[in-house]
Amino acid sequence: MRKRAAWLKKQPLCQDCMAEGVVNADDLEVDHVIPLFKGGKDNESNYRTRCSRHHKLKTAQDMGHVIRPEIGVDGWPIE
Ligand SMILES: [Zn+2]
Repeated sequence: MRKRAAWLKKQPLCQDCMAEGVVNADDLEVDHVIPLFKGGKDNESNYRTRCSRHHKLKTAQDMGHVIRPEIGVDGWPIE
């Protein structure tokens, strides 16, 4: 757990939200880029800060579910 706390100090925002141009520091979790059950490593090279919403999306994708958000006329997913 100490490794994760150290990581969150380096990456204190959801990195997926940042990729969408959103700053989000709420409900953060340390996720793995490659899931541990797929052989990913539990170290910083495989860590990514995600909010709980993005964590759920990524987990669903890792489990083989494809989530296709509806895209609005402005090009952004509809919640
Ligand atoms: Zn996010």
